[in-house]
Amino acid sequence: MEEIRVFCPATIANISCGFDVLGVALDAVGDEMVVRKIPEKGIIITKIEGQELPLVTEKNVAGVAGLALLKQSNYEGGFEIEIYKKIKAGSGIGSSAASSTGAVWAMNELLGKPFTTLDLVKFSMEGERLASGVAHADNVAPALFGGFTLVRSYSPLDVIAMPSPQALYATVIHPQIEVKTADSRKVLKTNITLADGIKQWGNVGGLVAGLYTSDYDLIGRSLIDHIVEPIRSILIPGFNDVKKSAEKAGALGCGISGSGPSIFSFSKGEETAQKVALSMKKVYQTIGIEYDVHVSKINTEGIKKVS
Ligand code: ADP
Repeated sequence: MEEIRVFCPATIANISCGFDVLGVALDAVGDEMVVRKIPEKGIIITKIEGQELPLVTEKNVAGVAGLALLKQSNYEGGFEIEIYKKIKAGSGIGSSAASSTGAVWAMNELLGKPFTTLDLVKFSMEGERLASGVAHADNVAPALFGGFTLVRSYSPLDVIAMPSPQALYATVIHPQIEVKTADSRKVLKTNITLADGIKQWGNVGGLVAGLYTSDYDLIGRSLIDHIVEPIRSILIPGFNDVKKSAEKAGALGCGISGSGPSIFSFSKGEETAQKVALSMKKVYQTIGIEYDVHVSKINTEGIKKVS
Protein backbone atom coordinates (compact mmCIF):
# COMPACT_ATOMS: atom_id res chain seq x y z
CA MET A 1 0.00 0.00 0.00
CA GLU A 2 1.44 3.37 -1.08
CA GLU A 3 -1.37 5.71 -0.01
CA ILE A 4 -4.18 5.76 2.55
CA ARG A 5 -7.11 8.08 3.36
CA VAL A 6 -8.20 8.16 7.00
CA PHE A 7 -11.00 9.60 9.16
CA CYS A 8 -9.60 11.25 12.31
CA PRO A 9 -12.29 11.68 14.99
CA ALA A 10 -12.94 14.66 17.20
CA THR A 11 -12.55 13.85 20.90
CA ILE A 12 -13.86 15.12 24.22
CA ALA A 13 -11.15 15.30 26.88
CA ASN A 14 -11.42 15.80 30.64
CA ILE A 15 -15.08 14.56 30.89
CA SER A 16 -16.12 16.39 34.09
CA CYS A 17 -14.43 14.55 36.99
CA GLY A 18 -11.69 13.10 34.72
CA PHE A 19 -9.53 16.18 34.25
CA ASP A 20 -6.41 15.30 32.23
CA VAL A 21 -7.12 11.55 32.40
CA LEU A 22 -10.41 10.70 30.66
CA GLY A 23 -11.34 11.11 26.99
CA VAL A 24 -13.77 9.79 24.41
CA ALA A 25 -13.87 9.64 20.60
CA LEU A 26 -16.81 10.89 18.49
CA ASP A 27 -18.26 9.49 15.29
CA ALA A 28 -20.09 12.38 13.66
CA VAL A 29 -17.30 14.91 13.47
CA GLY A 30 -13.71 14.55 12.36
CA ASP A 31 -11.05 15.45 9.80
CA GLU A 32 -9.77 13.45 6.87
CA MET A 33 -6.16 13.02 5.86
CA VAL A 34 -4.38 11.43 2.93
CA VAL A 35 -0.91 10.06 3.65
CA ARG A 36 1.35 8.84 0.85
CA LYS A 37 4.79 7.20 0.80
CA ILE A 38 7.51 9.19 -0.98
CA PRO A 39 11.10 8.08 -1.70
CA GLU A 40 12.71 11.17 -0.08
CA LYS A 41 13.36 11.06 3.68
CA GLY A 42 11.22 13.28 5.95
CA ILE A 43 7.68 14.61 5.88
CA ILE A 44 6.07 17.21 3.64
CA ILE A 45 2.61 18.69 4.08
CA THR A 46 1.35 19.49 0.60
CA LYS A 47 -2.22 20.59 1.22
CA ILE A 48 -4.47 21.85 4.04
CA GLU A 49 -8.11 22.54 3.25
CA GLY A 50 -10.77 23.96 5.58
CA GLN A 51 -8.50 26.05 7.77
CA GLU A 52 -5.45 28.29 7.90
CA LEU A 53 -2.76 26.14 9.51
CA PRO A 54 0.99 25.98 8.97
CA LEU A 55 2.29 23.86 6.07
CA VAL A 56 5.79 23.83 7.59
CA THR A 57 6.40 20.30 8.95
CA GLU A 58 7.88 21.45 12.27
CA LYS A 59 4.99 23.86 12.92
CA ASN A 60 2.15 21.46 12.17
CA VAL A 61 1.24 18.81 14.75
CA ALA A 62 0.86 16.19 11.99
CA GLY A 63 4.43 16.87 10.88
CA VAL A 64 5.86 16.84 14.41
CA ALA A 65 4.08 13.60 15.39
CA GLY A 66 5.16 12.03 12.09
CA LEU A 67 8.79 13.02 12.64
CA ALA A 68 8.65 11.39 16.10
CA LEU A 69 7.53 8.15 14.42
CA LEU A 70 10.17 8.36 11.68
CA LYS A 71 12.88 8.78 14.33
CA GLN A 72 11.99 5.34 15.75
CA SER A 73 11.56 3.67 12.36
CA ASN A 74 14.08 2.06 10.03
CA TYR A 75 12.03 3.13 6.96
CA GLU A 76 14.36 4.83 4.46
CA GLY A 77 11.76 6.98 2.69
CA GLY A 78 9.30 9.64 3.81
CA PHE A 79 5.65 10.71 3.65
CA GLU A 80 3.51 13.35 2.00
CA ILE A 81 0.42 14.53 3.92
CA GLU A 82 -2.83 16.23 2.87
CA ILE A 83 -5.13 17.49 5.65
CA TYR A 84 -8.86 18.13 5.17
CA LYS A 85 -9.92 19.99 8.33
CA LYS A 86 -13.46 19.91 9.65
CA ILE A 87 -12.65 20.36 13.36
CA LYS A 88 -11.98 23.98 14.16
CA ALA A 89 -8.64 24.57 15.94
CA GLY A 90 -9.06 25.81 19.49
CA SER A 91 -12.66 24.57 19.78
CA GLY A 92 -11.94 22.11 22.59
CA ILE A 93 -12.76 18.93 20.67
CA GLY A 94 -9.25 17.80 19.85
CA SER A 95 -8.45 19.50 16.56
CA SER A 96 -4.70 19.10 16.98
CA ALA A 97 -5.07 15.54 18.29
CA ALA A 98 -7.04 14.53 15.17
CA SER A 99 -4.14 15.63 12.94
CA SER A 100 -1.30 14.19 14.99
CA THR A 101 -2.99 10.81 15.51
CA GLY A 102 -4.24 10.62 11.91
CA ALA A 103 -0.72 11.14 10.61
CA VAL A 104 0.98 8.48 12.71
CA TRP A 105 -1.86 5.93 12.42
CA ALA A 106 -1.78 6.21 8.62
CA MET A 107 2.03 5.96 8.51
CA ASN A 108 1.96 2.86 10.70
CA GLU A 109 -0.55 1.23 8.33
CA LEU A 110 1.60 2.09 5.28
CA LEU A 111 4.68 0.61 6.98
CA GLY A 112 2.91 -2.68 7.82
CA LYS A 113 2.09 -1.83 11.47
CA PRO A 114 5.51 -2.00 13.14
CA PHE A 115 4.27 0.10 16.10
CA THR A 116 1.72 -0.60 18.86
CA THR A 117 -1.20 1.74 19.55
CA LEU A 118 0.59 2.87 22.72
CA ASP A 119 3.68 3.77 20.62
CA LEU A 120 1.37 5.85 18.39
CA VAL A 121 -0.01 7.61 21.49
CA LYS A 122 3.57 8.58 22.44
CA PHE A 123 4.37 9.94 18.94
CA SER A 124 1.09 11.90 18.85
CA MET A 125 1.81 13.44 22.24
CA GLU A 126 4.74 15.26 20.59
CA GLY A 127 2.15 16.99 18.38
CA GLU A 128 0.17 17.96 21.49
CA ARG A 129 3.34 19.39 22.99
CA LEU A 130 3.61 21.68 19.95
CA ALA A 131 -0.07 22.70 20.10
CA SER A 132 -0.37 23.46 23.81
CA GLY A 133 3.08 23.22 25.38
CA VAL A 134 2.05 20.09 27.30
CA ALA A 135 2.43 16.54 25.92
CA HIS A 136 -0.97 15.42 27.16
CA ALA A 137 -2.63 12.18 26.03
CA ASP A 138 -6.29 12.65 26.92
CA ASN A 139 -7.35 13.53 23.35
CA VAL A 140 -4.87 11.42 21.38
CA ALA A 141 -5.57 8.22 23.36
CA PRO A 142 -9.31 8.01 22.52
CA ALA A 143 -8.64 9.06 18.90
CA LEU A 144 -6.28 6.07 18.53
CA PHE A 145 -7.98 3.45 20.72
CA GLY A 146 -11.60 4.52 20.13
CA GLY A 147 -14.31 4.69 22.81
CA PHE A 148 -13.46 5.96 26.29
CA THR A 149 -9.87 5.92 27.52
CA LEU A 150 -8.27 6.46 30.90
CA VAL A 151 -4.69 7.71 31.11
CA ARG A 152 -3.93 5.98 34.42
CA SER A 153 -0.34 7.17 34.48
CA TYR A 154 2.01 9.31 32.40
CA SER A 155 5.22 7.92 33.79
CA PRO A 156 5.26 5.19 32.68
CA LEU A 157 2.52 5.84 30.12
CA ASP A 158 -0.42 3.54 30.92
CA VAL A 159 -3.61 3.91 28.87
CA ILE A 160 -6.73 1.82 29.48
CA ALA A 161 -9.30 1.49 26.68
CA MET A 162 -12.74 1.11 28.24
CA PRO A 163 -16.10 -0.08 26.91
CA SER A 164 -18.84 2.34 25.80
CA PRO A 165 -22.49 1.64 26.57
CA GLN A 166 -24.39 0.95 23.30
CA ALA A 167 -26.97 3.73 23.58
CA LEU A 168 -24.65 6.49 24.79
CA TYR A 169 -24.69 9.65 22.66
CA ALA A 170 -22.76 12.90 22.97
CA THR A 171 -24.07 16.36 22.16
CA VAL A 172 -21.39 19.02 21.74
CA ILE A 173 -21.98 22.73 21.26
CA HIS A 174 -19.17 25.03 20.21
CA PRO A 175 -19.95 28.69 20.93
CA GLN A 176 -17.90 30.80 18.51
CA ILE A 177 -15.86 32.61 21.11
CA GLU A 178 -12.14 32.36 21.71
CA VAL A 179 -10.84 30.88 24.95
CA LYS A 180 -7.05 30.61 24.81
CA THR A 181 -5.80 27.25 26.16
CA ALA A 182 -3.08 29.20 27.98
CA ASP A 183 -5.75 31.33 29.76
CA SER A 184 -7.86 28.33 30.70
CA ARG A 185 -4.71 26.70 32.18
CA LYS A 186 -3.76 29.92 33.99
CA VAL A 187 -7.03 30.14 35.95
CA LEU A 188 -6.53 26.69 37.47
CA LYS A 189 -5.46 26.35 41.08
CA THR A 190 -2.50 24.07 41.75
CA ASN A 191 -3.78 22.80 45.10
CA ILE A 192 -7.04 21.10 46.02
CA THR A 193 -8.56 20.25 49.38
CA LEU A 194 -8.77 16.67 50.61
CA ALA A 195 -12.58 17.04 50.75
CA ASP A 196 -12.70 17.97 47.04
CA GLY A 197 -10.28 15.17 46.19
CA ILE A 198 -12.50 12.60 47.89
CA LYS A 199 -15.57 13.77 45.97
CA GLN A 200 -13.66 13.84 42.69
CA TRP A 201 -12.13 10.35 42.85
CA GLY A 202 -15.46 8.94 44.02
CA ASN A 203 -16.96 10.27 40.78
CA VAL A 204 -14.08 9.06 38.57
CA GLY A 205 -14.53 5.56 40.01
CA GLY A 206 -18.32 5.84 39.56
CA LEU A 207 -17.99 6.94 35.94
CA VAL A 208 -15.58 4.11 35.10
CA ALA A 209 -17.85 1.56 36.84
CA GLY A 210 -20.86 2.98 34.96
CA LEU A 211 -19.08 2.59 31.61
CA TYR A 212 -18.17 -1.04 32.33
CA THR A 213 -21.68 -1.97 33.50
CA SER A 214 -23.67 0.26 31.07
CA ASP A 215 -25.31 1.85 34.11
CA TYR A 216 -26.57 5.12 32.64
CA ASP A 217 -27.83 6.49 35.97
CA LEU A 218 -24.47 5.88 37.58
CA ILE A 219 -22.75 7.60 34.63
CA GLY A 220 -25.09 10.58 35.12
CA ARG A 221 -24.54 10.74 38.89
CA SER A 222 -20.78 10.66 38.36
CA LEU A 223 -20.55 13.44 35.73
CA ILE A 224 -19.68 16.06 38.33
CA ASP A 225 -16.51 18.11 38.51
CA HIS A 226 -15.82 19.71 41.89
CA ILE A 227 -12.42 21.05 40.97
CA VAL A 228 -11.94 22.49 37.48
CA GLU A 229 -15.41 23.30 36.11
CA PRO A 230 -16.41 25.80 38.84
CA ILE A 231 -13.39 27.92 37.87
CA ARG A 232 -13.08 27.36 34.12
CA SER A 233 -16.76 27.75 33.37
CA ILE A 234 -16.44 31.45 34.20
CA LEU A 235 -14.59 31.84 30.86
CA ILE A 236 -17.54 30.40 28.88
CA PRO A 237 -20.53 32.75 28.56
CA GLY A 238 -23.86 30.98 29.13
CA PHE A 239 -22.24 27.83 30.56
CA ASN A 240 -24.54 27.49 33.58
CA ASP A 241 -27.69 28.05 31.49
CA VAL A 242 -26.54 25.54 28.86
CA LYS A 243 -25.88 22.97 31.56
CA LYS A 244 -29.23 23.54 33.29
CA SER A 245 -31.21 23.35 30.06
CA ALA A 246 -29.35 20.25 28.83
CA GLU A 247 -30.08 18.44 32.07
CA LYS A 248 -33.72 19.58 31.94
CA ALA A 249 -33.95 18.17 28.39
CA GLY A 250 -32.86 14.77 29.71
CA ALA A 251 -29.05 14.75 29.50
CA LEU A 252 -27.26 12.43 31.91
CA GLY A 253 -24.74 15.17 32.59
CA CYS A 254 -22.95 18.11 31.05
CA GLY A 255 -19.47 19.63 31.28
CA ILE A 256 -16.67 21.51 29.54
CA SER A 257 -15.10 19.70 26.58
CA GLY A 258 -11.30 19.85 26.80
CA SER A 259 -10.34 23.34 27.87
CA GLY A 260 -13.47 24.79 26.25
CA PRO A 261 -15.24 26.71 24.92
CA SER A 262 -17.14 23.63 23.66
CA ILE A 263 -19.63 22.12 26.11
CA PHE A 264 -20.59 18.43 25.97
CA SER A 265 -23.53 16.41 27.26
CA PHE A 266 -24.09 12.68 27.35
CA SER A 267 -27.55 11.19 26.81
CA LYS A 268 -29.11 7.75 26.62
CA GLY A 269 -30.38 7.40 23.05
CA GLU A 270 -30.22 9.65 20.01
CA GLU A 271 -33.67 11.16 20.49
CA THR A 272 -32.72 12.63 23.86
CA ALA A 273 -29.35 13.76 22.50
CA GLN A 274 -31.19 15.70 19.74
CA LYS A 275 -33.54 17.31 22.30
CA VAL A 276 -30.49 18.27 24.34
CA ALA A 277 -28.96 19.86 21.22
CA LEU A 278 -32.08 22.00 20.73
CA SER A 279 -32.04 23.12 24.36
CA MET A 280 -28.35 24.04 24.20
CA LYS A 281 -28.81 25.96 20.93
CA LYS A 282 -31.65 28.02 22.42
CA VAL A 283 -29.34 29.41 25.08
CA TYR A 284 -26.85 30.76 22.54
CA GLN A 285 -29.65 32.02 20.28
CA THR A 286 -30.93 34.05 23.25
CA ILE A 287 -27.49 35.40 24.13
CA GLY A 288 -26.73 36.06 20.45
CA ILE A 289 -23.57 33.96 20.09
CA GLU A 290 -22.99 31.89 16.92
CA TYR A 291 -22.45 28.16 17.50
CA ASP A 292 -21.89 24.74 15.90
CA VAL A 293 -23.66 21.68 17.30
CA HIS A 294 -22.78 18.02 16.86
CA VAL A 295 -24.83 15.02 17.98
CA SER A 296 -22.74 11.88 17.85
CA LYS A 297 -22.68 8.23 18.79
CA ILE A 298 -19.53 7.19 20.63
CA ASN A 299 -16.86 6.13 18.13
CA THR A 300 -15.64 2.76 19.34
CA GLU A 301 -13.08 2.19 16.55
CA GLY A 302 -11.07 5.40 16.64
CA ILE A 303 -9.24 6.40 13.47
CA LYS A 304 -10.29 4.39 10.45
CA LYS A 305 -9.46 3.94 6.81
CA VAL A 306 -11.92 5.50 4.36
CA SER A 307 -12.11 4.67 0.69
P1 ADP B 1 -8.49 21.98 20.48
O1 ADP B 1 -8.73 23.00 21.54
O2 ADP B 1 -9.64 21.87 19.52
O3 ADP B 1 -8.13 20.65 21.06
P2 ADP B 1 -5.86 22.59 20.25
O4 ADP B 1 -5.83 23.76 21.16
O5 ADP B 1 -5.44 21.25 20.74
O6 ADP B 1 -7.30 22.45 19.61
O7 ADP B 1 -4.90 22.90 19.02
C1 ADP B 1 -4.93 24.02 18.29
C2 ADP B 1 -3.51 24.61 18.12
O8 ADP B 1 -2.65 23.71 17.42
C3 ADP B 1 -3.57 25.87 17.30
O9 ADP B 1 -2.64 26.78 17.85
C4 ADP B 1 -3.10 25.43 15.92
O10 ADP B 1 -2.49 26.47 15.17
C5 ADP B 1 -2.09 24.34 16.25
N1 ADP B 1 -1.95 23.37 15.16
C6 ADP B 1 -0.84 23.04 14.48
N2 ADP B 1 -1.08 22.09 13.55
C7 ADP B 1 -2.39 21.81 13.63
C8 ADP B 1 -3.25 20.90 12.93
N3 ADP B 1 -2.81 20.13 11.96
N4 ADP B 1 -4.54 20.86 13.29
C9 ADP B 1 -5.01 21.66 14.27
N5 ADP B 1 -4.26 22.53 14.98
C10 ADP B 1 -2.96 22.60 14.66
